[in-house]
Amino acid sequence: MVRLPEKFLQRMYERLGDRYPAFLASYKRPPLKGLRVNTLKISAEEFCALAPAEFALGEQITESGYIVGGEKLGADPYHFAGLFYMQEPSAMQVGELTKGCKKERVLDLCAAPGGKTTHVAAQMAGKGVLFSNEIDFPRAKILSENVERMGIRNGGVMCASPETLAEFFPACFDLILVDAPCSGEGMFKKEPNAIPEWSEENVARCAVRQRGILECAAQMLARGGRIVYSTCTFAEEEDEWQIEAFLKAHPAFTLVEEKKFYPHEFRGEGHFAAVLEKREGEILAAKPFRIQKNAAAERAFCGFAEEFFAEPFRTEGRIHTLADGRMYLVPEGMPELNVRLLRLGVELGEWDGKNFKPAHALAMAFGTLAKKKISLSREEAKIYLRGETLACDIESGWAVVCVDGFPLGLGKVSGGTVKNHFPKGLRLRK
Ligand code: SAM
Repeated sequence: MVRLPEKFLQRMYERLGDRYPAFLASYKRPPLKGLRVNTLKISAEEFCALAPAEFALGEQITESGYIVGGEKLGADPYHFAGLFYMQEPSAMQVGELTKGCKKERVLDLCAAPGGKTTHVAAQMAGKGVLFSNEIDFPRAKILSENVERMGIRNGGVMCASPETLAEFFPACFDLILVDAPCSGEGMFKKEPNAIPEWSEENVARCAVRQRGILECAAQMLARGGRIVYSTCTFAEEEDEWQIEAFLKAHPAFTLVEEKKFYPHEFRGEGHFAAVLEKREGEILAAKPFRIQKNAAAERAFCGFAEEFFAEPFRTEGRIHTLADGRMYLVPEGMPELNVRLLRLGVELGEWDGKNFKPAHALAMAFGTLAKKKISLSREEAKIYLRGETLACDIESGWAVVCVDGFPLGLGKVSGGTVKNHFPKGLRLRK
């Protein structure tokens, strides 16, 4: 059992009273691991039939389950194919609270590594626009990779502070997720490094930071919109009292729902979530995104698409071409984004003035529509994911490499071999 700070235990005892022994006993069991099926790519039923680890569907969330086996699923080919996201079970409950919310324009303000973003994206099923933001650049890169892996088409990944975003997007979103940085009391088992960092002073510091983030979210929310605030801590200063203080300071808001997931009452490590609705205020439209058109590049893409896709490529969105030839499919409703951007809609590929070269993101978002597919078994897929060349006797040209029919990336077939185009930075280590 992990050694917990005395002061933390005393606070929990004062809060829980006769429920405290059960809370303490929950630290004796190993941390619960969960997995959420990416319904953008596969249904829960289909996934269960394929599932690589012993895995049982959750009682409350149809697309999620607890991992019972100890396999390293991050290295599993189905993980690379974006069929699932590994997420702590109580964290998934936050996504459950967003199910009834309007989602034309959604902002996830503290999004990395992407658990809640990918959950909400699955609920949006390609409709509306999802902005996933992370203030820390290295973490934003991981978020962006996860958004790509899960095949999310209708979003953008940004790296900005809540204050910067609040300047650009006043009264503009229907739903804002604030999964706030917190003192992480619910993470002590999973990340014991968080234990020595815990102190009452740190709880107070976190509460101040959260108040600032919530303030920005309040400014960016349109009338009728909702904030889903969450933490993975039990401290009232960061949870119930934070919400109480927010409601006092913002009479335009009401509390829709508030939930605390304690590890002795719920099969998870612990979370807090509150849903706030803005009853009064403005609804403002952000400036629309200015598409840069390049007729020659678009012709090159159309020529490629005719060869590459089994059916004419028709999808919602507009093609945006940067001066350096990189091309993106930008979702309808995308506003102007004058912030550091890591991902914009779906990267289609690159035009060098002569030829069009498809991007990995294209395969992850639209690969199932490709004409030429190379379907590998799970073992063969590992060879591809390590960046090795494969033998294949199909017609030359670009193909989508799949595991059991699910796209993993691109390959270029020529003379009986497949040149591996799986991105170097994402490869499975040998
Ligand atoms: N929502 C994520 C998920 O489900 O995978 C987890 C988010 S984590 C609990 C909180 C995030 O807030 C961290 O990635 C952290 O870098 C970010 N953060 C830290 N300080 C911040 C600030 N001042 N404003 C906004 N985000 C901040």
